[in-house]
Amino acid sequence: MITANRYFRDKFGHKMYKASISLDLTCPNRDGSKGTGGCIFCSKGGSGEFSASGDSVKDQIERAVSQVRSKAGPDAGYIAYFQSFTGTYCSAGYLERVLDEASSCEGIEAISVATRPDCLGPDILAVLENLAAGIPLFVELGLQTSSDETAVLINRCYKTGEYISAVKALKAIGANVITHIIFGLPGEDKDMMKDTVRTAVDAGSDGYKFTCLYVLKDTALEKMYLNKEVEILEMEEYFDIVEEAVKLLPDDAVVHRFTGDGPKSILLAPEWTKNKRQVVNYINRRFGL
Ligand code: SF4
Repeated sequence: MITANRYFRDKFGHKMYKASISLDLTCPNRDGSKGTGGCIFCSKGGSGEFSASGDSVKDQIERAVSQVRSKAGPDAGYIAYFQSFTGTYCSAGYLERVLDEASSCEGIEAISVATRPDCLGPDILAVLENLAAGIPLFVELGLQTSSDETAVLINRCYKTGEYISAVKALKAIGANVITHIIFGLPGEDKDMMKDTVRTAVDAGSDGYKFTCLYVLKDTALEKMYLNKEVEILEMEEYFDIVEEAVKLLPDDAVVHRFTGDGPKSILLAPEWTKNKRQVVNYINRRFGL
């Protein structure tokens, strides 16, 4: 396993920071084409609460870069990160335009797009392939679980087989694939969570973003949580699973995130994710980072 910091330093020769971009897109799981209401854990912000907002992609990147420049220093590079909702749920023409705009911004050395496996049709893949020929491209896929039963429960609205095909297609066009996995989904035991990791490894995922299930206000999960239909993992319990997951990864797999956290203003549980510094220290200690 390699940490993201080390991976980026090796690949780019310096530290990389993300400049988050919010596009005016939605998700097939929200607009009725696949489902409504979204995944049970997804807030109205579409998993992109930390994104900047603004008019143009260029404006958003400039704002995001200026916010971290003093901390990042002159040698840092930036990844334009299309984070919120489904970053490829749009026309190929629009996608090409915004990706070109991002990649031509000063300081941008890579592009990362978060999307769903079922939003990667041939026209979209052609745009991504063209982009990947000129700049490192990361595509983040929200798998969350390999269990199609759990997928129904969380209202993911696509089959795991679609994820496997998407990874193959993305790797064929030169993209680096990062898989999002949630531990602690309702009804899942440790073996199921490990199966999810094995599925992603077997599919050929290059990188991983792990997170514990967390509950945000105004989500379907909030109701389940308040009705005591779902248990949220304690910190030790969660990182025990992460430790086992890491053991399943190939040596060159990159862990981009050991856990996630929701925005404090709408985060109901788990409490332990609210103390970011404590969690980071714990991760560093436990995983020898
Ligand atoms: S696919 Fe992503 S953006 Fe869409 S509802 Fe699920 S988590 Fe939210």
